Amino acid sequence: MRISDTIQDSIVDGPGLRYVIFTQGCPHRCPGCHNPGTHDPEGGREVEPELLIKQMLSNPLTDGLTLSGGEPFYQAAALVPIAEAARAHRLNVWAWSGWTFEELMEEGDPDKLALLRLCDVLVDGRFVLAKRTLELKWRGSSNQRVLDVKKSLESGRATLYTPPPTGLEAFAVPL
Ligand code: SF4
Repeated sequence: MRISDTIQDSIVDGPGLRYVIFTQGCPHRCPGCHNPGTHDPEGGREVEPELLIKQMLSNPLTDGLTLSGGEPFYQAAALVPIAEAARAHRLNVWAWSGWTFEELMEEGDPDKLALLRLCDVLVDGRFVLAKRTLELKWRGSSNQRVLDVKKSLESGRATLYTPPPTGLEAFAVPL
């Protein structure tokens, strides 16, 4: 698979300490994209998924895996074993996609759906420059949604994610 980069100890790409894979290649080309260097599917570098799994599991303090990009669902088949390994080691899985939950469901691509089923949370939708915001946690524009994947799949409708209570809600940035 092709990746742009990895981060082994992110605290901004989802809750807790996270192993982040920035995949290479994105078909959406959103104007104002924060990461245009990830668009070219031939860019970045080739890497074996097994190597990423090894790196992901090398830190026992890691809480979760984040799949970002680029467009992670563009290389869904390669990401499935990585997400499976994460879940097998009790790491939660968050993914960002320019495709919405409805678009992924409607397309019905088996690899994309397999990856979606392995995710706990999907932050969905393209970045829309006119709706850009710095106010919302985990999102770049207000059209994007933070979805609970399990509930969304069970109900067949995009369902917003509710973070577990921390006792610090009064200080939290709104979702
Ligand atoms: S989906 Fe993300 S990476 Fe792709 S063009 Fe849009 S903002 Fe950039």
